[in-house]
Amino acid sequence: MKIGFIGLGNMGAPMAANLAAAGHDVIGYDTMAKPEGIVMAASPTEAVAGADVVITMLPNGAILRAVALQILPVMEPGTLFLDCSSVEVETARAVAKQAADAGILALDAPVSGGVGGAAGGTLTFMVGASDEAFALAAPLFDIMGQKAVHCGPNGNGQAAKICNNMILGATMIATCEAFALADKLGLERQAMFDVVSTSSGYSWSMNTYCPAPGVGPQSPADNDYKPGFAAELMLKDLRLSQQAAEAADADTPMGRTARDTYAQFVEGEGRAGMDFSAILPWLTQRNRR
Ligand code: NAD
Repeated sequence: MKIGFIGLGNMGAPMAANLAAAGHDVIGYDTMAKPEGIVMAASPTEAVAGADVVITMLPNGAILRAVALQILPVMEPGTLFLDCSSVEVETARAVAKQAADAGILALDAPVSGGVGGAAGGTLTFMVGASDEAFALAAPLFDIMGQKAVHCGPNGNGQAAKICNNMILGATMIATCEAFALADKLGLERQAMFDVVSTSSGYSWSMNTYCPAPGVGPQSPADNDYKPGFAAELMLKDLRLSQQAAEAADADTPMGRTARDTYAQFVEGEGRAGMDFSAILPWLTQRNRR
């Protein structure tokens, strides 16, 4: 397939490289990045001209809307517009509507798996799209990822992503505060892990990504809390979840608390660039307030 790929940053560049390595004809466009090994166009319209599929991997919804306005008029009816960025549910639905009006099949397919998953071709895609669009894009998901879940119509991929990450943010904070409390109660971290990881408090945050160094499997905690999944990216996703909750009039008290906690950690404490599990050393330095 001829693929136009817009947004070749930390995630987009390795995803595009995997598509090119699988034999697809990939032409990239980025306002800043110049990744090695990808043929680059001078403009977004040049990148998408004649493409069967256009993939975007952009920082946020405002940029996605601006790029969509530029490229949709140039794309051929019947082609695919596959956005893999993490953006607002309403942005995904608005862009899909614009695409549909032009006869283009849109998919929102945000990912989990991070930069390692993008490089290794092991991402999970959460997809909002028609059955037809999902079937057409499936071979590309197979190259860039190990799993693609069709979550329903346009916007549902973004909905799945922010609901999952709202759970992740809240459980990571809960896991960290339990370790910090255990410290003050004189409970060894290893004993705490041995109990919780096999009891009803277990979770991905505890069992797979334990925030305590030297305990449980290898995780960013064992590497000075270098990401991993940076706290500011978690904050972005928690803000998306709260925007969606406001728009849908859903009560999400834990999600709101998680957003406020990461906002304080990242912006109040200046801890951007640290892994999102670094909430643990932060909490252990604090007293009850
Ligand atoms: P990034 O900032 O590294 O890459 C974004 C790229 O888009 C940059 O190279 C930037 O120059 C380019 N760009 C910005 N405006 C543009 C425009 N108008 N036209 C063309 N290119 C433009 O970000 P990333 O880490 O690759 O993340 C991309 C998306 O994936 C985000 O929505 C993010 O939330 C999501 N995501 C990231 C991760 C992660 O671990 N990094 C994990 C899951 C999801």
